[in-house]
Amino acid sequence: MRICIQCNERFSGRSDKKFCSDYCRNQYNYSKSRYAEKDILDLHCRIRKNHRIICNIYKSGCGKIDINILKGLGYNLEIVTGINLENSIFSIYDISFKFEENYLVFLHETVVKK
Ligand SMILES: [Zn+2]
Repeated sequence: MRICIQCNERFSGRSDKKFCSDYCRNQYNYSKSRYAEKDILDLHCRIRKNHRIICNIYKSGCGKIDINILKGLGYNLEIVTGINLENSIFSIYDISFKFEENYLVFLHETVVKK
C-alpha cells in the first residue's frame, strides 16, 4: 500500500507511484505552480515598492538619503535589479546608486532618461 502525497489516502500501485489518481496528480502540480507564481509576484511587489520609494526621493531632487530613513520608509536593502560589482553600483530598474557610509547616493549620470 502507498499513500497519496496529495490527499493522504492509501492506494495500491507501482512503488514509484505518488498519487492515487490523475486528479490528485493534477491538483498537486497545479498548487505547486501556484506557489511558485506567488513567490514571483511577491518579489515583484517588493521590487516595485523599493523603486517607488527611491523614485520619489530621487525626483524630489535629493542627491542622497540616510539608509535608516530609507529603512523606515519600508525600503528593503537586499533587493536590487542590477549590480555592477566592479564599481559597487546598484540599480533598481532605471535608478542607479551606490552606498557611502550610511547613505544611499544617487548616480544621476547613469540614470536612464525616460
Ligand atoms: Zn490522492
